[in-house]
Amino acid sequence: MYKKIGILGGLSPESTVIYYLRIVRRYQELFGDHSYPEIIIYSVSFQKFIDWMAKDGWDEITEELIRNIRNLAAAGADFALIATNTMHLVFDRVEESSPIPLISIVDATAEAIRKEKINTVGLLGTAFTMEKAFYREGLAKYGIETLVPEKTDRDYINRVIFEELCRGIIRDESRNSFERIIRELTERGAEGIVLGCTEIPLLIDEKDISTRIFDTAKIHADKALEFAVKT
Ligand code: GLU
Repeated sequence: MYKKIGILGGLSPESTVIYYLRIVRRYQELFGDHSYPEIIIYSVSFQKFIDWMAKDGWDEITEELIRNIRNLAAAGADFALIATNTMHLVFDRVEESSPIPLISIVDATAEAIRKEKINTVGLLGTAFTMEKAFYREGLAKYGIETLVPEKTDRDYINRVIFEELCRGIIRDESRNSFERIIRELTERGAEGIVLGCTEIPLLIDEKDISTRIFDTAKIHADKALEFAVKT
């Protein structure tokens, strides 16, 4: 029997779907049949998190995430994922109070980067992910240096994430701008680009980009599957 995967989703729903399908399809690809692990999804109501983030209410966010993880554990999840990069700002605090193991998206991404022997990456994500220290420091623990876009581009990316991608709105104009920002990070020395927001793969197809892409939603989902099937 495989471990039951708990996904703390809804942050936003657009990427929760990516996780769910990725785990199932990856299993089918690797093992051929339909015996994929059971998955429990707890999809939160996103607005209150957005309101808390706007006033740097990370204590409230931490408490709510802990409550949600406990719900996943009570429903039978053997371990859980917080299916968003931004909320990893409080990952350590949530993990301390979690009754079940949690898999960190930052550690999973850092391991994937190290495997490719890449030392410097460009990071795209919400303003919190690009500007607060948690992501940069999380990658630095693995010897990886992080570059972020200029302030006007960071604000722009943040706006597109919340106003478009989290609502499932995909615009060519935004795709072109993201591709330009990726090119500029590459020119500044990024050997790889971290799509450090779980909705960005809705906009950017890694096949269209010549720089090595690290899709955090995919990496995180794959890590969950690996952990679930491991005896
Ligand atoms: N899903 C996004 C992320 O990976 C942003 C939404 C959120 O604030 O959770 O950071």
